[in-house]
Amino acid sequence: MGTLSIVATPLGNMEDITLRALRTLKEADVIYAEDTRVISKLLARYEIKKPLQRLDAATESKKAEEIIERLESGERVVYVSDAGTPGISDPGARMVAAVRKRILKSNFNTTIEAIPGPSALAAALSIAGIDTAATGFMFIGFLPHKKGRQTALKGISESEIPVVLYESPHRILKLLKELEDGGASRVVVARELTKMHEEVISGTAAEVQAHFAAHPDAVRGEFVVIIVP
Ligand code: SAM
Repeated sequence: MGTLSIVATPLGNMEDITLRALRTLKEADVIYAEDTRVISKLLARYEIKKPLQRLDAATESKKAEEIIERLESGERVVYVSDAGTPGISDPGARMVAAVRKRILKSNFNTTIEAIPGPSALAAALSIAGIDTAATGFMFIGFLPHKKGRQTALKGISESEIPVVLYESPHRILKLLKELEDGGASRVVVARELTKMHEEVISGTAAEVQAHFAAHPDAVRGEFVVIIVP
């Protein structure tokens, strides 16, 4: 029976890998990775040597076929993205969908298992100091850069529950300005989670912009933004 394991990997701190993730990587016949160079560093750190294949957003459909063949012949296949949980604003979901579709169609014997671990979304919420137990929250991944951006921003400003999104350093200041224009009263920005310069900045959109204006070095790295209604 083939096994497809979707393995979460560290967001930055190499120690954030579960014992089960390490065992799964060690037992794999092949590891598919969003970027083989990125996963190579993690594998080297834990002295794991395995055949590596690339599966990124551009090759996802084609590589899914290859993975299905391997699973049909009983292989243990692992998928990892560059950081965090595959399939969450990352490649992996379309490949899993293709495998599931084939399982339904031809009834072949394969297990698809999640090996959970880090995700920037969960890490940010866990230290943001926002109680979402009663309201829940909405995660929207990355905002569209052009088409659909204004509609998405309007949706955020009208949301009655916290909205969580991912942003890059190139667009964080633009986003904060847009949130200010949309009247966002409270914004929490979690930056460089699990890394040396981890920080959480919170305030109105204008206050968070002022923080970055005073600390231009902080407009670097990776960001999770939470907009609190
Ligand atoms: N699948 C990943 C996950 O579950 O965390 C997310 C992948 S997505 C391509 C990358 C985005 O996640 C970054 O642009 C940033 O918004 C967020 N992110 C990833 N690592 C982060 C970190 N260490 N600190 C803050 N945000 C991070």
